[in-house]
Amino acid sequence: RVLDLKDASLLVDRAYVAGEWVGASKGRTFAVTDPFDGAVILELPDLDVEATRRAIDTAHTVQKDWAKRTAKERSQILRRWYDLIVDNADDLALILTTEQGKPLPEAKGEVISNAAYIEWFAEEAKRIDGDIIPGASPSQRILVLKQPVGVCAAITPWNFPNGMITRKVGPALAAGCTMVLKPAAQTPLSALALAVLAERAGVPKGAFSVITTTDAKPVGEEFCHNPKVAKITFTGSTNVGRWLMREAGDSIKRLSLELGGNAPFIVFDDADLDAAVEGALASKFRNAGQTCVCANRIYVQESVAEAFSAKLADKAKALKLGRGTEAGVAMGPLIDERAVAKMEEHVQDALAKGGQVLVGGKRSDLGSTFFEPTVMTGITQAMKVTREETFAPLAPIITFKDEAEVIGMANATEFGLASYFYAKDMARVWRVAEALESGMVGVNTPALANEMAPFGGVKQSGLGREGSKYGIEGFLEIKYINLAGL
Ligand code: ADP
Repeated sequence: RVLDLKDASLLVDRAYVAGEWVGASKGRTFAVTDPFDGAVILELPDLDVEATRRAIDTAHTVQKDWAKRTAKERSQILRRWYDLIVDNADDLALILTTEQGKPLPEAKGEVISNAAYIEWFAEEAKRIDGDIIPGASPSQRILVLKQPVGVCAAITPWNFPNGMITRKVGPALAAGCTMVLKPAAQTPLSALALAVLAERAGVPKGAFSVITTTDAKPVGEEFCHNPKVAKITFTGSTNVGRWLMREAGDSIKRLSLELGGNAPFIVFDDADLDAAVEGALASKFRNAGQTCVCANRIYVQESVAEAFSAKLADKAKALKLGRGTEAGVAMGPLIDERAVAKMEEHVQDALAKGGQVLVGGKRSDLGSTFFEPTVMTGITQAMKVTREETFAPLAPIITFKDEAEVIGMANATEFGLASYFYAKDMARVWRVAEALESGMVGVNTPALANEMAPFGGVKQSGLGREGSKYGIEGFLEIKYINLAGL
């Protein structure tokens, strides 16, 4: 497939290993396809553990020099990378939409808003301050330094092929770490395009590698067991996160995990109902419901449930489905047929247990990766849709009587990434925000992620935070020096 890019060099058919653009070895390649129709975009090298090891070795060597550069120099290189991403945002968005499916304006939004993490951490690079603490005796002082953890390995998912990378590589490089990245096999082209721009910005060869592979497990094992890797940062499913944590435990690696969610979205009777409907629409149907912070369970207080459900159904019905590059399309395909099958299973399970479909409820005739935006009512806590992350455009509405009941239901999950609620009463806002067991709470808004805020989860949704002044801490170690004899 030919993409209409302004800069054709951003579409790459090679991997980026230890500072070299490498092709396939032994003819092993895999196809990257467009989820809209399954058309092959191009073939990439299907790399193995040997290439991963090479990337780690070089990252380990290069890291020493990178960490010795001044913070200002690292900052300037990152700033150039940010500028290049913004300058090339249209091309990056087109590459993203072609491999992932989301509407082009959404893709461009992803590119720009996540490039901001590189801008932010370029600034933070200069603020990795230590401390001087009074000593234990008059002749001593306690000095606290922050030093880069070393080589980091990143594993990223397909739902934000661009944004999940910038928010990991930005702080790593800012801190003086180097990074070996394994992007999802469905969406490696965005990662490679970012690497082209990183190289152009002056990121040293070998400081950032991109391993393209369909064989994730051996690469993951290498990340977990290679003694030169100091830290693993992962965004993806809770099951893979759990496995990585176990594997990485052997060598006590630093770990940041951003895992699954099962976000409650609560509408109280004092809420601005139209704002709540708009919020639910954005939270549930953006990226076709394939985000870890998506509203997964929508709880609406009894007295406003009917009005809310009808309004949401009307809006969902009006969403235009289609190819992400087509003007006016609000929802693209799901990533693959497995995702469609999971949505169908959740709809069927809910129907079998007494749920009703207000709108959608079936596959779309646009193709095998499409499912209609769906709103269901009569949902209970016993259904799969309230217990598992659907990761698809299914809005299940559950009614509740009072605050205590809804907080109990909202917290009845092993996940704790995001939660949302709409209410006006100030005392209620405080009470509920504090009672919800999640790392992030959106009050009267569906928007949570931005570079200035700490993104991350509690419970089985993860460890660590991305973005904000806290986001760089996971890439730094604290060293204390007891300076005596003064
Ligand atoms: P999803 O089901 O959304 O694809 P995954 O957690 O399976 O979520 O995938 C997220 C990322 O983790 C992808 O880059 C995928 O290739 C990678 N991955 C999956 N299994 C493993 C594994 N055993 N080791 C390392 N990476 C893995």
